[in-house]
Amino acid sequence: MKIAEIRTYMLEHRLDTPFESASMRFDRRQHMLVEVICEDGTTGWGECLGPAGPNAAMIAAYAGWLRGMDALETEVIWARLYNALRDQGQRGIAITALSGIDIALWDIKGKRFGASVSTLLGGRFRESLRAYATGSFRRDGVDRAADNAAEMAGHAEAGFHAGKIKIGFGVEEDLRVIAAVREAIGPEMRLMIDANHGYDTVEAVQLGQRAAKFDIDWFEEPVVPEQIAAYRELRARQPIPVAGGETWHTRWGFREAIETRAIDIAQPDLCGVGGFTEARRVADLCALHGIRVVPHVWGTAVQIAAALQFMAAMVPSPVRRDPIEPILEFDRTHNPFRQAVVTRPIEHENGVVAIPDAPGLGIEIDRDALTRFAPGA
Ligand SMILES: [Mg+2]
Repeated sequence: MKIAEIRTYMLEHRLDTPFESASMRFDRRQHMLVEVICEDGTTGWGECLGPAGPNAAMIAAYAGWLRGMDALETEVIWARLYNALRDQGQRGIAITALSGIDIALWDIKGKRFGASVSTLLGGRFRESLRAYATGSFRRDGVDRAADNAAEMAGHAEAGFHAGKIKIGFGVEEDLRVIAAVREAIGPEMRLMIDANHGYDTVEAVQLGQRAAKFDIDWFEEPVVPEQIAAYRELRARQPIPVAGGETWHTRWGFREAIETRAIDIAQPDLCGVGGFTEARRVADLCALHGIRVVPHVWGTAVQIAAALQFMAAMVPSPVRRDPIEPILEFDRTHNPFRQAVVTRPIEHENGVVAIPDAPGLGIEIDRDALTRFAPGA
């Protein structure tokens, strides 16, 4: 299974209605897929988290090392690519690009052995996952509380048991939004808040203390991801469980947060942390320290498929109660190519997503869609 070629595909869609988190404004959707092609014609697909252009450039740089290597040797390839850039590439684009490659290699390995990635990872503990709805960003020209409340009520109506809203725009305004959303969805639906590191520690403590009465499952990325000590302080000074990790790369990137218990819930992203190869190590570290894992998911069906394969193989908590089972992050914002890139969309039914069991990631790419959504197409 010698690697012959590596291709990247940029995808882009300009949004009619931009939206924003506390750290980023989205006037377009942009993602990047990776295709690794073997000499025998077998191809595998992956996706990289983060800016598409820099990821594509990084993949091109890795391609020289990759050509001629055996695609089945995922651990060997991971170590070689990481070592090649170890001195300057321990996090960031070097790792998000490596993540996309690793996912594609596992897809190839699954196709080679006729088994799903989850089977190769050790087996499937589950065939479906409850999903939670990610949405309720800030949009221009509308009342944010009413807008977010109506959106989350819609997700409840669609069958989602849980939803996550964006905060980090100011403590008073955020509390007004959280109250309106809780009011709209009622007491049963689980609710999470994500500040996208829009607060400093003082604001985050205030928000956490005052928002706890709205029954919040977790408080995600309260402060900038570099401030692990601030995460620890937040866990100590406010009652809502703290989540984070979508921008932490590799086991070393997670190490301090896990070992010093700066978080209650770790959110490694398959397309950012280092692919299946590295996400597994992070999940093992979390299990060792009693920290829950709920992977971050923000991409196309390729990323969703990768998360599903990984989560199928996650060892259940020894406490086999329902709420402890991992839940799937399910992005509900507008992205017309999210599911168009695969021939069979990965959709939810009443808030539950079935885990594909076909070989590899269990998906087939629609190449026409890659052309249709190429930048400038
Ligand atoms: Mg987040």
